[in-house]
Amino acid sequence: MTPAVFLDRDGTINVDKDYMYRVEDFEYMEGAVEGLKALERAGFLLVVVTNQSGIARGFFTENDYHVLMDWMKKDLAEKGIHIAADYYCPHLPGAKVKKYNIECECRKPKTGLYMRAIRELDIDPDRSYAVGDKIRDLEICRTTGVTGILLGDKNKEREDYFSICENWKEIVDLIKGGDHAFT
Ligand SMILES: [Mg+2]
Ligand SMILES: [Zn+2]
Repeated sequence: MTPAVFLDRDGTINVDKDYMYRVEDFEYMEGAVEGLKALERAGFLLVVVTNQSGIARGFFTENDYHVLMDWMKKDLAEKGIHIAADYYCPHLPGAKVKKYNIECECRKPKTGLYMRAIRELDIDPDRSYAVGDKIRDLEICRTTGVTGILLGDKNKEREDYFSICENWKEIVDLIKGGDHAFT
């Protein structure tokens, strides 16, 4: 079993620009590329887990999602970073596109995508982390041994099942500090 870092995409790897799907709108968060590189060097699988309700809302298609994600993975590969896999939820209850208008088991805070990744990639939850800019990205940390890190303002929301880091450098320092017991 291998340790992984589960990564939210929008607002964590790249700047969140509301239902973004075009390559030309893509912009990395400050320190994200260096951070991802450091985590991969430290032996973690990098796994993207992302809600993409823009698909259910009819703003873009699953194919558009794949085009942007393939571009991102290729761009990171050119920078020496390998994304092991990406998992996405296209659903939203009540949304416009009928096919995706369901109460699914994969839209975060539900943990279906994480459980699938753990199974398919043989990930060890107890040595893994989840990083995201919303609390819903960290639900997996309540029910498994995955350690949670919220990328955000330290003065804001706080719960006992995650730590808060204000930037990517703090995230890397915390994970490489290797204290898996701080939750
Ligand atoms: Mg986000
Ligand atoms: Zn879903």
